[in-house]
Amino acid sequence: MKKKDIKYIVVTGGVLSGLGKGIVNASIGNLLVNQGYKVTAVKIDPYINLDAGTMRPTEHGEVWVTDDGGETDQDLGNYERFLNTNIPKGNNITTGQVYLEVINKERNLEYHGKCVEVIPHIPQEVERRIIKAGKEAEADFVMVEIGGTIGDYQNILFLETVREMKRRRNNVVFVHVAYLPIPNHIGEMKTKPAQHSVRQLNANGIQPDFIIGRSKLPLDDVRKEKIALFCNVKKDAVLSAPNIDNIYRIPVNFEKQQFVHNILKKFGMKYKKTKKSRAWQDYINKISRIKKELKIGIVGKYFDIGNFSLEDSYVSIIEAVKHAAWRNNRKPVIEWINSKKYECDPALIKELENYDGIIIPGGFGSSGIDGKLLAIKYIRENNIPFLGLCLGMQLAVVEFARNVCGLKNAHTTEVSPDTDNPVIDILPEQKDNLRKKNYGATMRLGSYPAKLKKESLVCRLYGNKTIISERHRHRYEVNPEYALLLEQCGLKFSGVSPDRKLMEFLELPDHNFFVATQAHPEFKSRLMKPAPLFDGFVKAAAKGRGKSQ
Ligand code: GLN
Repeated sequence: MKKKDIKYIVVTGGVLSGLGKGIVNASIGNLLVNQGYKVTAVKIDPYINLDAGTMRPTEHGEVWVTDDGGETDQDLGNYERFLNTNIPKGNNITTGQVYLEVINKERNLEYHGKCVEVIPHIPQEVERRIIKAGKEAEADFVMVEIGGTIGDYQNILFLETVREMKRRRNNVVFVHVAYLPIPNHIGEMKTKPAQHSVRQLNANGIQPDFIIGRSKLPLDDVRKEKIALFCNVKKDAVLSAPNIDNIYRIPVNFEKQQFVHNILKKFGMKYKKTKKSRAWQDYINKISRIKKELKIGIVGKYFDIGNFSLEDSYVSIIEAVKHAAWRNNRKPVIEWINSKKYECDPALIKELENYDGIIIPGGFGSSGIDGKLLAIKYIRENNIPFLGLCLGMQLAVVEFARNVCGLKNAHTTEVSPDTDNPVIDILPEQKDNLRKKNYGATMRLGSYPAKLKKESLVCRLYGNKTIISERHRHRYEVNPEYALLLEQCGLKFSGVSPDRKLMEFLELPDHNFFVATQAHPEFKSRLMKPAPLFDGFVKAAAKGRGKSQ
Protein backbone atom coordinates (compact mmCIF):
# COMPACT_ATOMS: atom_id res chain seq x y z
CA MET A 1 0.00 0.00 0.00
CA LYS A 2 1.25 3.48 -0.83
CA LYS A 3 2.32 5.42 2.24
CA LYS A 4 -0.03 8.31 2.93
CA ASP A 5 1.43 11.78 2.80
CA ILE A 6 -0.22 13.10 5.96
CA LYS A 7 -0.62 16.86 6.15
CA TYR A 8 -0.51 18.94 9.31
CA ILE A 9 -2.32 22.16 10.14
CA VAL A 10 -1.11 23.86 13.30
CA VAL A 11 -3.26 26.38 15.16
CA THR A 12 -1.69 28.85 17.60
CA GLY A 13 -3.24 31.71 19.56
CA GLY A 14 -2.12 35.23 20.28
CA VAL A 15 -2.92 38.20 22.56
CA LEU A 16 -5.39 36.46 24.90
CA SER A 17 -6.40 33.00 25.97
CA GLY A 18 -10.00 31.91 25.56
CA LEU A 19 -10.27 32.92 21.90
CA GLY A 20 -11.84 29.65 20.89
CA LYS A 21 -8.73 28.18 19.24
CA GLY A 22 -10.19 24.76 19.88
CA ILE A 23 -13.32 25.63 17.94
CA VAL A 24 -11.21 27.12 15.14
CA ASN A 25 -9.12 23.94 14.98
CA ALA A 26 -12.30 21.85 15.00
CA SER A 27 -13.97 24.06 12.38
CA ILE A 28 -11.11 23.78 9.90
CA GLY A 29 -11.20 20.02 10.51
CA ASN A 30 -14.95 20.06 9.90
CA LEU A 31 -14.51 21.76 6.52
CA LEU A 32 -11.89 19.20 5.50
CA VAL A 33 -14.12 16.31 6.63
CA ASN A 34 -16.91 17.81 4.56
CA GLN A 35 -14.48 17.85 1.62
CA GLY A 36 -14.31 14.08 2.01
CA TYR A 37 -10.97 13.82 3.83
CA LYS A 38 -10.10 11.77 6.87
CA VAL A 39 -9.13 14.13 9.66
CA THR A 40 -7.99 13.77 13.23
CA ALA A 41 -7.07 16.42 15.77
CA VAL A 42 -4.48 16.79 18.51
CA LYS A 43 -4.52 19.13 21.49
CA ILE A 44 -1.22 20.03 23.12
CA ASP A 45 -1.52 21.31 26.68
CA PRO A 46 1.50 22.92 28.31
CA TYR A 47 0.67 21.82 31.86
CA ILE A 48 2.57 19.18 33.87
CA ASN A 49 -0.52 17.11 34.78
CA LEU A 50 -0.49 13.84 32.88
CA ASP A 51 -4.15 14.40 32.08
CA ALA A 52 -7.05 16.64 33.02
CA GLY A 53 -8.58 14.06 35.36
CA THR A 54 -7.16 15.46 38.56
CA MET A 55 -8.14 19.05 37.89
CA ARG A 56 -11.16 20.79 39.41
CA PRO A 57 -13.83 21.71 36.83
CA THR A 58 -13.83 25.31 38.05
CA GLU A 59 -10.10 25.42 37.36
CA HIS A 60 -9.96 23.73 34.00
CA GLY A 61 -13.50 23.26 32.74
CA GLU A 62 -15.08 19.94 31.96
CA VAL A 63 -13.02 16.78 31.94
CA TRP A 64 -13.75 15.11 28.63
CA VAL A 65 -13.86 11.30 28.63
CA THR A 66 -12.72 9.46 25.50
CA ASP A 67 -13.99 6.10 24.32
CA ASP A 68 -10.68 4.53 25.31
CA GLY A 69 -10.91 5.87 28.86
CA GLY A 70 -8.85 9.05 28.73
CA GLU A 71 -9.66 12.05 30.94
CA THR A 72 -8.70 14.89 28.66
CA ASP A 73 -9.04 18.53 27.81
CA GLN A 74 -12.53 19.57 26.72
CA ASP A 75 -11.25 20.54 23.27
CA LEU A 76 -11.26 16.86 22.34
CA GLY A 77 -15.02 17.13 22.78
CA ASN A 78 -15.15 19.95 20.25
CA TYR A 79 -13.09 17.86 17.86
CA GLU A 80 -15.43 14.88 18.18
CA ARG A 81 -18.50 17.05 17.70
CA PHE A 82 -17.12 18.90 14.67
CA LEU A 83 -15.24 16.04 13.01
CA ASN A 84 -17.90 13.46 13.81
CA THR A 85 -15.30 10.91 14.81
CA ASN A 86 -13.89 9.41 18.01
CA ILE A 87 -10.62 10.92 19.15
CA PRO A 88 -8.38 8.68 21.29
CA LYS A 89 -6.77 9.80 24.53
CA GLY A 90 -3.28 9.84 22.99
CA ASN A 91 -4.37 12.92 21.02
CA ASN A 92 -4.17 15.08 24.14
CA ILE A 93 -0.45 15.65 24.68
CA THR A 94 0.73 17.32 27.89
CA THR A 95 4.18 18.47 29.01
CA GLY A 96 3.95 15.96 31.86
CA GLN A 97 3.41 13.01 29.50
CA VAL A 98 6.28 14.06 27.26
CA TYR A 99 8.81 14.46 30.06
CA LEU A 100 7.71 11.26 31.78
CA GLU A 101 8.19 9.31 28.56
CA VAL A 102 11.61 10.82 27.86
CA ILE A 103 12.78 10.12 31.42
CA ASN A 104 11.46 6.55 31.27
CA LYS A 105 13.24 5.96 27.96
CA GLU A 106 16.46 7.36 29.44
CA ARG A 107 16.17 4.96 32.39
CA ASN A 108 15.70 2.10 29.92
CA LEU A 109 18.88 3.05 28.05
CA GLU A 110 16.86 3.81 24.94
CA TYR A 111 19.07 6.81 24.14
CA HIS A 112 22.11 4.49 23.99
CA GLY A 113 24.32 6.39 26.38
CA LYS A 114 23.70 9.84 24.91
CA CYS A 115 23.26 12.95 27.05
CA VAL A 116 19.48 13.43 27.04
CA GLU A 117 18.64 17.08 26.57
CA VAL A 118 15.59 19.32 26.29
CA ILE A 119 16.55 19.98 22.67
CA PRO A 120 16.35 17.78 20.64
CA HIS A 121 14.78 15.05 22.76
CA ILE A 122 11.65 16.82 23.99
CA PRO A 123 10.54 18.09 20.54
CA GLN A 124 11.34 14.65 19.10
CA GLU A 125 8.98 13.02 21.58
CA VAL A 126 6.25 15.60 20.86
CA GLU A 127 6.63 15.04 17.13
CA ARG A 128 6.54 11.27 17.58
CA ARG A 129 3.17 11.64 19.30
CA ILE A 130 1.72 13.94 16.64
CA ILE A 131 2.82 11.60 13.85
CA LYS A 132 1.47 8.58 15.70
CA ALA A 133 -1.95 10.24 16.05
CA GLY A 134 -2.12 10.77 12.29
CA LYS A 135 -0.97 7.24 11.44
CA GLU A 136 -3.35 5.54 13.86
CA ALA A 137 -6.29 7.48 12.46
CA GLU A 138 -5.08 6.83 8.89
CA ALA A 139 -5.68 10.53 8.46
CA ASP A 140 -5.18 12.77 5.47
CA PHE A 141 -4.94 15.76 7.79
CA VAL A 142 -3.93 16.19 11.41
CA MET A 143 -5.19 19.36 13.05
CA VAL A 144 -2.78 20.38 15.85
CA GLU A 145 -3.78 22.95 18.44
CA ILE A 146 -1.05 24.37 20.65
CA GLY A 147 -2.55 25.37 23.98
CA GLY A 148 -1.74 28.64 25.72
CA THR A 149 -0.85 31.97 24.12
CA ILE A 150 2.16 32.94 22.03
CA GLY A 151 4.73 34.45 24.34
CA ASP A 152 4.01 32.00 27.15
CA TYR A 153 7.18 30.50 28.49
CA GLN A 154 5.43 27.14 28.68
CA ASN A 155 4.70 26.39 25.04
CA ILE A 156 8.06 27.28 23.47
CA LEU A 157 9.09 23.64 23.07
CA PHE A 158 5.87 22.86 21.25
CA LEU A 159 6.47 25.74 18.86
CA GLU A 160 9.99 24.44 18.37
CA THR A 161 8.54 21.03 17.51
CA VAL A 162 6.27 22.35 14.78
CA ARG A 163 8.98 24.66 13.45
CA GLU A 164 11.24 21.63 12.99
CA MET A 165 8.40 19.64 11.44
CA LYS A 166 7.79 22.35 8.85
CA ARG A 167 11.51 22.58 8.06
CA ARG A 168 11.81 18.86 7.47
CA ARG A 169 8.52 17.97 5.87
CA ASN A 170 7.14 21.12 4.37
CA ASN A 171 3.63 19.65 4.61
CA VAL A 172 2.69 21.90 7.53
CA VAL A 173 0.45 24.96 7.38
CA PHE A 174 0.30 27.45 10.25
CA VAL A 175 -2.89 29.22 11.32
CA HIS A 176 -2.62 31.94 13.95
CA VAL A 177 -5.70 33.15 15.83
CA ALA A 178 -5.25 36.61 17.33
CA TYR A 179 -7.54 38.91 19.24
CA LEU A 180 -8.39 42.40 18.00
CA PRO A 181 -9.70 44.61 20.79
CA ILE A 182 -12.14 47.49 20.29
CA PRO A 183 -11.35 49.65 23.33
CA ASN A 184 -14.38 51.66 24.49
CA HIS A 185 -12.51 54.92 24.79
CA ILE A 186 -11.24 54.68 21.21
CA GLY A 187 -14.19 52.96 19.57
CA GLU A 188 -11.98 51.46 16.87
CA MET A 189 -10.72 47.94 16.24
CA LYS A 190 -6.97 47.81 16.92
CA THR A 191 -4.58 45.48 15.13
CA LYS A 192 -1.37 46.24 17.06
CA PRO A 193 -1.56 43.45 19.68
CA ALA A 194 -2.21 40.94 16.89
CA GLN A 195 0.81 42.28 14.95
CA HIS A 196 2.98 41.85 18.04
CA SER A 197 1.80 38.31 18.59
CA VAL A 198 2.77 37.44 15.01
CA ARG A 199 6.16 39.04 15.57
CA GLN A 200 6.58 36.84 18.63
CA LEU A 201 5.67 33.82 16.54
CA ASN A 202 8.28 34.92 13.96
CA ALA A 203 10.83 35.07 16.76
CA ASN A 204 10.11 31.38 17.32
CA GLY A 205 10.88 30.71 13.68
CA ILE A 206 7.28 30.43 12.52
CA GLN A 207 5.60 32.49 9.82
CA PRO A 208 1.82 32.02 9.87
CA ASP A 209 0.19 31.13 6.55
CA PHE A 210 -3.20 32.40 7.74
CA ILE A 211 -4.21 34.87 10.43
CA ILE A 212 -7.67 34.75 11.95
CA GLY A 213 -8.81 37.99 13.53
CA ARG A 214 -11.04 37.22 16.50
CA SER A 215 -13.06 40.19 17.60
CA LYS A 216 -16.46 41.35 18.72
CA LEU A 217 -17.19 42.55 15.16
CA PRO A 218 -16.12 41.46 11.68
CA LEU A 219 -12.77 42.79 10.38
CA ASP A 220 -13.11 45.45 7.71
CA ASP A 221 -10.84 45.86 4.69
CA VAL A 222 -8.66 48.45 6.39
CA ARG A 223 -7.82 46.06 9.26
CA LYS A 224 -7.27 43.15 6.89
CA GLU A 225 -4.85 45.20 4.80
CA LYS A 226 -2.96 46.37 7.87
CA ILE A 227 -2.54 42.86 9.20
CA ALA A 228 -1.57 41.57 5.76
CA LEU A 229 1.09 44.25 5.35
CA PHE A 230 2.62 44.09 8.81
CA CYS A 231 2.37 40.35 9.26
CA ASN A 232 3.66 39.44 5.83
CA VAL A 233 0.69 37.55 4.40
CA LYS A 234 -1.69 38.14 1.48
CA LYS A 235 -4.99 39.88 2.23
CA ASP A 236 -7.02 36.77 1.48
CA ALA A 237 -5.00 34.96 4.16
CA VAL A 238 -6.51 37.26 6.82
CA LEU A 239 -9.85 35.97 8.04
CA SER A 240 -12.55 37.49 10.11
CA ALA A 241 -14.02 35.58 13.07
CA PRO A 242 -16.47 37.84 14.89
CA ASN A 243 -18.49 36.78 17.95
CA ILE A 244 -21.28 34.52 16.88
CA ASP A 245 -24.60 33.18 18.21
CA ASN A 246 -23.89 29.56 17.34
CA ILE A 247 -20.43 27.94 17.33
CA TYR A 248 -21.54 25.45 14.66
CA ARG A 249 -21.84 28.37 12.24
CA ILE A 250 -18.09 29.03 12.39
CA PRO A 251 -17.21 26.51 9.64
CA VAL A 252 -19.91 28.11 7.50
CA ASN A 253 -18.37 31.56 8.03
CA PHE A 254 -14.93 30.22 7.15
CA GLU A 255 -16.28 28.56 4.04
CA LYS A 256 -17.72 31.90 2.90
CA GLN A 257 -14.24 33.39 3.14
CA GLN A 258 -12.85 30.57 0.98
CA PHE A 259 -10.67 29.44 3.86
CA VAL A 260 -10.60 25.75 3.10
CA HIS A 261 -10.17 26.56 -0.58
CA ASN A 262 -7.02 28.55 0.26
CA ILE A 263 -5.70 25.96 2.72
CA LEU A 264 -6.02 23.22 0.12
CA LYS A 265 -4.27 25.46 -2.40
CA LYS A 266 -1.29 25.72 -0.01
CA PHE A 267 -1.01 21.94 -0.15
CA GLY A 268 -1.44 21.92 -3.93
CA MET A 269 -4.93 20.44 -3.63
CA LYS A 270 -8.27 21.42 -5.09
CA TYR A 271 -11.51 22.52 -3.41
CA LYS A 272 -14.78 20.87 -4.42
CA LYS A 273 -18.39 21.65 -3.60
CA THR A 274 -19.86 18.70 -1.68
CA LYS A 275 -23.24 17.53 -0.39
CA LYS A 276 -21.86 17.22 3.10
CA SER A 277 -20.93 20.87 3.47
CA ARG A 278 -24.30 21.88 2.00
CA ALA A 279 -26.09 19.68 4.58
CA TRP A 280 -24.20 21.26 7.49
CA GLN A 281 -24.98 24.75 6.20
CA ASP A 282 -28.68 23.98 5.70
CA TYR A 283 -28.97 22.51 9.17
CA ILE A 284 -27.39 25.61 10.76
CA ASN A 285 -29.77 27.84 8.82
CA LYS A 286 -32.72 25.75 9.95
CA ILE A 287 -31.63 26.13 13.58
CA SER A 288 -31.47 29.90 13.33
CA ARG A 289 -35.15 29.99 12.34
CA ILE A 290 -36.36 28.15 15.46
CA LYS A 291 -38.40 30.44 17.70
CA LYS A 292 -40.14 28.24 20.26
CA GLU A 293 -38.19 28.10 23.51
CA LEU A 294 -37.55 25.21 25.86
CA LYS A 295 -36.43 26.06 29.37
CA ILE A 296 -34.06 23.55 30.91
CA GLY A 297 -32.68 23.91 34.44
CA ILE A 298 -29.37 22.34 35.41
CA VAL A 299 -28.98 21.80 39.14
CA GLY A 300 -25.20 21.82 39.40
CA LYS A 301 -22.59 22.81 41.86
CA TYR A 302 -19.44 24.03 40.15
CA PHE A 303 -20.42 27.64 40.55
CA ASP A 304 -17.69 28.86 42.85
CA ILE A 305 -15.87 31.23 40.50
CA GLY A 306 -18.96 33.16 39.53
CA ASN A 307 -20.85 32.95 36.31
CA PHE A 308 -17.90 32.73 34.00
CA SER A 309 -16.80 29.17 34.58
CA LEU A 310 -20.22 27.56 34.42
CA GLU A 311 -20.44 26.88 30.75
CA ASP A 312 -17.00 25.35 30.77
CA SER A 313 -17.73 22.95 33.62
CA TYR A 314 -20.71 21.42 31.84
CA VAL A 315 -19.93 22.11 28.19
CA SER A 316 -20.84 18.66 26.82
CA ILE A 317 -24.17 18.65 28.64
CA ILE A 318 -24.98 22.08 27.21
CA GLU A 319 -24.08 20.92 23.72
CA ALA A 320 -26.10 17.71 24.13
CA VAL A 321 -29.16 19.76 25.22
CA LYS A 322 -28.70 22.03 22.21
CA HIS A 323 -28.39 19.12 19.77
CA ALA A 324 -31.54 17.48 21.12
CA ALA A 325 -33.53 20.72 21.34
CA TRP A 326 -32.68 21.76 17.78
CA ARG A 327 -33.52 18.31 16.46
CA ASN A 328 -36.95 18.76 18.08
CA ASN A 329 -37.41 22.30 16.77
CA ARG A 330 -36.91 24.01 20.08
CA LYS A 331 -34.61 26.83 21.05
CA PRO A 332 -32.95 25.80 24.31
CA VAL A 333 -32.78 28.26 27.19
CA ILE A 334 -30.50 26.81 29.82
CA GLU A 335 -30.51 28.13 33.38
CA TRP A 336 -28.21 27.29 36.26
CA ILE A 337 -29.68 26.39 39.58
CA ASN A 338 -27.45 26.32 42.61
CA SER A 339 -28.80 23.54 44.79
CA LYS A 340 -27.35 25.08 47.96
CA LYS A 341 -30.12 27.67 48.05
CA TYR A 342 -32.74 24.95 48.66
CA GLU A 343 -30.80 23.91 51.75
CA CYS A 344 -31.16 27.44 53.20
CA ASP A 345 -34.75 27.99 52.07
CA PRO A 346 -36.64 24.80 51.09
CA ALA A 347 -39.69 26.84 50.04
CA LEU A 348 -37.73 28.06 47.00
CA ILE A 349 -38.02 24.58 45.53
CA LYS A 350 -41.33 25.53 43.89
CA GLU A 351 -39.37 27.53 41.33
CA LEU A 352 -38.61 24.20 39.62
CA GLU A 353 -42.14 24.52 38.22
CA ASN A 354 -40.80 27.21 35.91
CA TYR A 355 -38.77 24.71 33.92
CA ASP A 356 -39.80 22.35 31.14
CA GLY A 357 -37.23 19.87 32.35
CA ILE A 358 -34.43 19.49 34.89
CA ILE A 359 -31.01 17.85 34.58
CA ILE A 360 -28.88 16.81 37.52
CA PRO A 361 -25.36 16.34 36.16
CA GLY A 362 -22.30 14.49 37.42
CA GLY A 363 -20.18 15.71 40.28
CA PHE A 364 -17.94 14.81 43.18
CA GLY A 365 -17.93 15.42 46.94
CA SER A 366 -20.64 16.46 49.35
CA SER A 367 -21.40 20.12 48.76
CA GLY A 368 -24.93 20.93 47.57
CA ILE A 369 -26.03 17.29 47.89
CA ASP A 370 -28.95 17.93 50.29
CA GLY A 371 -30.32 20.62 47.98
CA LYS A 372 -30.15 18.24 45.06
CA LEU A 373 -32.02 15.58 47.02
CA LEU A 374 -34.78 18.12 47.79
CA ALA A 375 -34.92 18.99 44.09
CA ILE A 376 -35.22 15.34 43.03
CA LYS A 377 -38.04 14.72 45.53
CA TYR A 378 -39.95 17.67 44.12
CA ILE A 379 -39.28 16.62 40.52
CA ARG A 380 -40.39 13.04 41.22
CA GLU A 381 -43.56 14.03 43.04
CA ASN A 382 -44.53 16.72 40.55
CA ASN A 383 -43.95 14.94 37.29
CA ILE A 384 -41.26 17.31 36.01
CA PRO A 385 -39.19 15.70 33.20
CA PHE A 386 -35.87 14.67 34.72
CA LEU A 387 -32.55 13.41 33.42
CA GLY A 388 -29.96 12.28 35.97
CA LEU A 389 -26.37 11.80 34.90
CA CYS A 390 -23.91 9.77 36.98
CA LEU A 391 -24.07 11.55 40.36
CA GLY A 392 -27.58 12.58 39.26
CA MET A 393 -28.55 8.90 39.03
CA GLN A 394 -26.89 8.06 42.34
CA LEU A 395 -28.84 10.81 44.11
CA ALA A 396 -32.09 9.74 42.46
CA VAL A 397 -31.53 6.34 44.06
CA VAL A 398 -30.75 7.87 47.46
CA GLU A 399 -33.89 10.01 47.33
CA PHE A 400 -36.08 7.08 46.27
CA ALA A 401 -34.63 4.83 48.97
CA ARG A 402 -35.31 7.42 51.65
CA ASN A 403 -38.69 8.73 50.66
CA VAL A 404 -40.34 5.79 48.90
CA CYS A 405 -38.66 2.69 50.37
CA GLY A 406 -38.56 4.27 53.83
CA LEU A 407 -34.84 3.67 54.34
CA LYS A 408 -34.11 6.62 56.60
CA ASN A 409 -30.55 7.93 56.28
CA ALA A 410 -29.95 6.01 53.06
CA HIS A 411 -26.97 7.64 51.40
CA THR A 412 -23.96 7.30 49.17
CA THR A 413 -20.80 6.33 51.00
CA GLU A 414 -19.01 9.06 49.06
CA VAL A 415 -20.80 11.56 51.31
CA SER A 416 -21.65 9.48 54.36
CA PRO A 417 -19.17 6.60 54.73
CA ASP A 418 -20.92 5.20 57.85
CA THR A 419 -24.53 5.32 56.69
CA ASP A 420 -26.79 2.44 57.85
CA ASN A 421 -28.11 2.10 54.33
CA PRO A 422 -25.32 2.50 51.76
CA VAL A 423 -27.54 2.37 48.66
CA ILE A 424 -24.67 3.85 46.66
CA ASP A 425 -21.31 2.34 47.47
CA ILE A 426 -17.79 2.36 46.18
CA LEU A 427 -16.92 -0.11 43.41
CA PRO A 428 -14.94 -2.91 45.10
CA GLU A 429 -11.85 -2.43 42.92
CA GLN A 430 -11.83 1.29 43.75
CA LYS A 431 -11.37 0.89 47.50
CA ASP A 432 -7.71 0.11 47.11
CA ASN A 433 -7.12 3.10 44.85
CA LEU A 434 -8.50 5.51 47.42
CA ARG A 435 -6.59 3.87 50.28
CA LYS A 436 -3.32 4.23 48.34
CA LYS A 437 -4.24 7.79 47.21
CA ASN A 438 -4.00 6.46 43.70
CA TYR A 439 -6.33 9.07 42.22
CA GLY A 440 -5.09 9.74 38.67
CA ALA A 441 -6.79 7.82 35.83
CA THR A 442 -8.08 5.12 38.17
CA MET A 443 -11.86 5.60 38.01
CA ARG A 444 -14.10 3.34 35.95
CA LEU A 445 -13.36 5.17 32.72
CA GLY A 446 -14.35 5.04 29.07
CA SER A 447 -16.90 3.06 27.11
CA TYR A 448 -18.69 0.12 28.71
CA PRO A 449 -21.60 -1.87 27.30
CA ALA A 450 -24.96 -2.18 29.02
CA LYS A 451 -27.85 -4.59 28.51
CA LEU A 452 -31.21 -2.88 28.24
CA LYS A 453 -34.49 -4.41 29.37
CA LYS A 454 -36.89 -4.93 26.51
CA GLU A 455 -40.03 -2.87 26.88
CA SER A 456 -38.31 -0.23 28.98
CA LEU A 457 -38.47 3.43 28.04
CA VAL A 458 -34.66 3.54 27.88
CA CYS A 459 -34.58 0.62 25.43
CA ARG A 460 -37.16 2.40 23.26
CA LEU A 461 -35.10 5.58 23.30
CA TYR A 462 -32.08 3.64 22.06
CA GLY A 463 -34.11 2.46 19.07
CA ASN A 464 -35.03 -0.88 20.73
CA LYS A 465 -31.40 -1.97 20.89
CA THR A 466 -30.73 -4.26 23.84
CA ILE A 467 -26.96 -3.78 23.93
CA ILE A 468 -25.62 -0.26 23.89
CA SER A 469 -22.47 1.42 25.07
CA GLU A 470 -21.80 4.75 26.75
CA ARG A 471 -18.81 6.41 28.40
CA HIS A 472 -18.24 6.36 32.15
CA ARG A 473 -16.29 8.18 34.83
CA HIS A 474 -17.07 7.13 38.39
CA ARG A 475 -15.94 5.26 41.50
CA TYR A 476 -19.33 4.65 43.11
CA GLU A 477 -22.35 2.65 41.96
CA VAL A 478 -25.76 1.39 43.04
CA ASN A 479 -25.21 -1.17 45.79
CA PRO A 480 -26.55 -4.41 44.24
CA GLU A 481 -27.76 -5.55 47.67
CA TYR A 482 -30.48 -2.89 47.53
CA ALA A 483 -31.46 -3.34 43.87
CA LEU A 484 -34.29 -5.79 44.54
CA LEU A 485 -35.86 -3.69 47.29
CA LEU A 486 -35.70 -0.56 45.14
CA GLU A 487 -37.37 -2.42 42.28
CA GLN A 488 -40.07 -3.80 44.55
CA CYS A 489 -40.86 -0.21 45.53
CA GLY A 490 -41.32 0.78 41.86
CA LEU A 491 -37.93 1.89 40.58
CA LYS A 492 -37.05 0.14 37.33
CA PHE A 493 -33.44 -0.60 36.51
CA SER A 494 -33.80 -0.59 32.76
CA GLY A 495 -30.14 -1.28 31.95
CA VAL A 496 -27.41 -3.27 33.68
CA SER A 497 -23.79 -4.23 32.94
CA PRO A 498 -23.52 -7.50 30.98
CA ASP A 499 -22.54 -9.38 34.20
CA ARG A 500 -25.66 -7.84 35.83
CA LYS A 501 -23.61 -6.51 38.73
CA LEU A 502 -23.86 -2.79 37.92
CA MET A 503 -27.08 -0.82 37.53
CA GLU A 504 -26.49 1.39 34.51
CA PHE A 505 -29.91 2.94 33.80
CA LEU A 506 -33.07 3.57 35.79
CA GLU A 507 -36.54 4.91 35.11
CA LEU A 508 -39.80 5.53 36.95
CA PRO A 509 -42.60 3.99 34.89
CA ASP A 510 -45.40 6.17 36.29
CA HIS A 511 -43.64 9.44 35.75
CA ASN A 512 -43.76 11.78 32.76
CA PHE A 513 -40.05 11.25 32.15
CA PHE A 514 -37.75 10.23 34.98
CA VAL A 515 -34.62 8.63 33.55
CA ALA A 516 -31.11 8.45 34.94
CA THR A 517 -27.88 6.73 34.04
CA GLN A 518 -24.56 5.93 35.62
CA ALA A 519 -22.99 6.84 32.27
CA HIS A 520 -22.34 10.16 30.56
CA PRO A 521 -24.34 9.99 27.31
CA GLU A 522 -23.55 13.66 26.68
CA PHE A 523 -20.12 12.64 25.37
CA LYS A 524 -21.57 10.87 22.35
CA SER A 525 -24.02 13.54 21.28
CA ARG A 526 -23.47 15.09 17.87
CA LEU A 527 -25.04 18.10 16.15
CA MET A 528 -27.24 16.10 13.79
CA LYS A 529 -27.42 12.97 15.93
CA PRO A 530 -28.43 13.83 19.50
CA ALA A 531 -27.79 11.35 22.31
CA PRO A 532 -30.91 9.16 22.70
CA LEU A 533 -31.55 10.00 26.37
CA PHE A 534 -31.27 13.74 25.73
CA ASP A 535 -33.57 13.39 22.75
CA GLY A 536 -36.17 11.58 24.84
CA PHE A 537 -35.82 14.06 27.69
CA VAL A 538 -36.26 17.05 25.38
CA LYS A 539 -39.28 15.45 23.67
CA ALA A 540 -40.92 14.93 27.07
CA ALA A 541 -40.02 18.46 28.18
CA ALA A 542 -41.40 19.92 24.95
CA LYS A 543 -44.67 18.06 25.39
CA GLY A 544 -45.41 19.68 28.74
CA ARG A 545 -46.74 17.70 31.66
CA GLY A 546 -49.88 16.62 33.41
CA LYS A 547 -50.81 17.50 36.96
CA SER A 548 -49.11 16.07 40.05
CA GLN A 549 -49.64 12.39 40.64
N1 GLN B 1 -18.83 11.07 42.45
C1 GLN B 1 -19.53 10.01 41.85
C2 GLN B 1 -18.66 8.78 41.62
O1 GLN B 1 -17.46 8.86 41.68
C3 GLN B 1 -20.14 10.43 40.53
C4 GLN B 1 -19.13 10.74 39.48
C5 GLN B 1 -19.71 11.51 38.33
O2 GLN B 1 -20.76 12.12 38.42
N2 GLN B 1 -19.01 11.54 37.23
O3 GLN B 1 -19.15 7.70 41.41
